[in-house]
Amino acid sequence: MGGMSEQSTGAPAPSVFSRIVAREIPADIVHETETLVAFRDISPQAPVHLLVVPKTERYRDVVELAAGDPALLAEIVATAGQLSRSADAFGDHAGGEFRLVFNTGPSAGQTVFHVHAHVLGGPLEEGTLAH
Ligand code: AMP
Repeated sequence: MGGMSEQSTGAPAPSVFSRIVAREIPADIVHETETLVAFRDISPQAPVHLLVVPKTERYRDVVELAAGDPALLAEIVATAGQLSRSADAFGDHAGGEFRLVFNTGPSAGQTVFHVHAHVLGGPLEEGTLAH
């Protein structure tokens, strides 16, 4: 004890995804631009499971993002499409097909309140949106 916690400075602690962007914690990054980053989910729920994350943590969820910066939301969707056609990102499943999920709120399973898209690929069954 005795040291100042991050919270005691008054600034909110950076999200886990901001810490990945800052290279403070490791991640398997597959794509990066000035505005967003894509990396493999640490706990994959599908043969391919990527997260596409805007570098800004200004938006908690996709509803805030759509209202505040629709162009950035469109960029996330375009990036998912691009990754789904990339053998580096999607391996054998790079056929341009994928599932895009934005968990929105704790009861919907959101645990990180820094907006992010789950890009799921590989054989996915119909009727298995929830697991
Ligand atoms: P959500 O439940 O929609 O908020 O999604 C958060 C996702 O972030 C989960 O699928 C986690 O497995 C994933 N995740 C959490 N920490 C890390 C990390 N350090 N590297 C990669 N993925 C992570």
